Amino acid sequence: METNYWKLTNNQLKDCEAIDEAATMLINGEVVAFPTETVYGLGANATDHDAVNKIFQAKGRPQDNPLIAHVSDRVQMEKLVGPWPGYVDNLIEAFTPGPLTFVLPSNGICATNVTAGLSTIGVRIPSHPVAQQLLKACQLPIAAPSANLSGKPSPTTANHVFADLNGRISGIVDGGPTGVGLESTVIDCTQEIPVILRPGGITQEQIEKVTGVVMTDPALANQSDKPKSPGMKYRHYSPEVPLWIIDGSLKRMQQEITGQKETGNRVGLIASNHIVDKLVADEAIALGENLSEIAANLYHALRTFKQSNVDIIICEAFPEKGIGQAVMNRLKKAASNYIYRD
Ligand code: AMP
Ligand code: MG
Repeated sequence: METNYWKLTNNQLKDCEAIDEAATMLINGEVVAFPTETVYGLGANATDHDAVNKIFQAKGRPQDNPLIAHVSDRVQMEKLVGPWPGYVDNLIEAFTPGPLTFVLPSNGICATNVTAGLSTIGVRIPSHPVAQQLLKACQLPIAAPSANLSGKPSPTTANHVFADLNGRISGIVDGGPTGVGLESTVIDCTQEIPVILRPGGITQEQIEKVTGVVMTDPALANQSDKPKSPGMKYRHYSPEVPLWIIDGSLKRMQQEITGQKETGNRVGLIASNHIVDKLVADEAIALGENLSEIAANLYHALRTFKQSNVDIIICEAFPEKGIGQAVMNRLKKAASNYIYRD
């Protein structure tokens, strides 16, 4: 299959030919990747079972992992779901459009493979101008998981999408690097108290300020519990080489690096700017000054280290507050939960 590639060169998104062409493809049941403020999404008409099936095929995604339906606004969201608790109004007001996915009772408008047969559906209103324009142009709910091959880190640039999916999908809209860099927060809003199923772009602290109380799925802390969000059971976000998280002093980190080098391994280091300069590894990637920059750059870093350049990645443990919760959730998955502590 030939993959169309549209590079958006300016901010003129109204009457944009590329967006119109991409929207037409989506309306015709084809699969197109596009930028959102979290990561690139792989979109298809959420009401068309065959179109949605193409997403699963292109990604190699397990059929039991439901997709998020993307809509342009609250009115479109209401068309896909049943009644919701009052706090959802406050969350919509505070965080939409934005990186928050609402799990609500499905009213059956979307195809059954979007929800993987569940009675609930995940719905999100993305804020990225390209995503917004595309959703308005096609006037459809668009099912869109991250636009990567299943098992790989999510794509934060169109190049990442191209590397994974060129020849497997109908098009890629290149709108530059995404902002947040990690996926949306998934929040179960089917009960009296909201429950975070996946930490992401909107933090627990931000949600608490709006709802007063919010719970987190116990499976996020305890591996033996079955996660309520089916996707959380998979070890995705994984780089091509093993990754170890070191929660300890600089001395401890250097010891680990040196120990690995002594066994003949080439070591790649991923850490915040101020730590990278103080350690000696074979290759190093500085993620940034603060947790937001670290989140934005993490997936690119995980993709950059390949088997050809390093044998193991050593990564700093970041504070699990704010967006750091999502960063550490993804890192722990990439590390199969191995954290070395002092
Ligand atoms: P992705 O689109 O790759 O970011 O993955 C979407 C995430 O949302 C996965 O972890 C899914 O399991 C989760 N998700 C989507 N719909 C639902 C739902 N109805 N109930 C629980 N989790 C969901
Ligand atoms: Mg994904």
